Amino acid sequence: MRAAVLEKAGTLLRLADLPDPEPARGKMLLRVRVCGVCRTDLHIVDGELARPKLPLVPGHQIVGEVLGGGSRFEPGARVGVPWLGWTCGECRYCVSGRENLCDQARFTGYDLDGGYAELVAADERFCFTVPEAYSDEQAAPLLCAGLIGYRSLRLAGDAESIGLYGFGASAHIICQVATAERRRVFAGTRAGDDETQEFARSLGAVWAGDALAGPPEELDAVIVFAPAGELVPAALRHVRKGGSVVCAGIHMSDIPTFPYELLWGERVIRSVANLTRADGDEFLALAPTIPIRTEVETFPLEEANEALDRLRRGALRGAAVLVV
Ligand SMILES: [Zn+2]
Ligand SMILES: [Zn+2]
Repeated sequence: MRAAVLEKAGTLLRLADLPDPEPARGKMLLRVRVCGVCRTDLHIVDGELARPKLPLVPGHQIVGEVLGGGSRFEPGARVGVPWLGWTCGECRYCVSGRENLCDQARFTGYDLDGGYAELVAADERFCFTVPEAYSDEQAAPLLCAGLIGYRSLRLAGDAESIGLYGFGASAHIICQVATAERRRVFAGTRAGDDETQEFARSLGAVWAGDALAGPPEELDAVIVFAPAGELVPAALRHVRKGGSVVCAGIHMSDIPTFPYELLWGERVIRSVANLTRADGDEFLALAPTIPIRTEVETFPLEEANEALDRLRRGALRGAAVLVV
């Protein structure tokens, strides 16, 4: 099969012909139709996450067609493969509905080869049915950007006014969910990024501007999607007493020290790690009812490096998707 392969962190992906995967028991073989490009892929390629398997086929927002294996889906079925690829099922986290925290969890496109390839093997227990209302391209960003964003929104509680700092693939989806739930969205971007601010307003944000400077009123919560540690004390400054700052990314630059006064008043900082299957089922059922529309830019598999570079430079509107 053709695949884009990471051989060493900090280098470009290389297009290669690899042997077809041979799925173990309980695993399905899928033909990859599209695979979304996530910021996590960029962190892996850039060497910011500690322990990817190498060589690695990245990619964990896969929409594929079942070729065979497993018993949960018929051959020909369209399924989504997310970041959470396997968990132990037995630890304190797995048995309490927090499989996202399993110490032994394996992740697609990190511990397991992912979807920047023509074929992928996936454990059927962790795959989702893709809602029919979506094309392959438009469904892909729901599988991580949407899903982990959704978990972040839930962990932000019942905030009526909510900041989304870093308005990329995830925020553009979550903005639509929050707006449908009658919350007011305040979109924080890099200073002077007029295009992204305009995009956020077009999706229902009541304010869009420089995230570091913050909006003109106190917020109930902020979700920080951008991997920039300096946004955490900024967001604490922008939330009211009792408010939450939720860090949605898997990696962030160091958070600068800040006076305790910013946390005082029962403000909360928390992170969001991965997803559970329950998150996926809930979110994918909700998406077509809103309906969430995803803005995607497609690239052929051969241009995976270009797609990652555009993401690195913040030069994407919405989400990048590789068409295989
Ligand atoms: Zn476990
Ligand atoms: Zn992701």
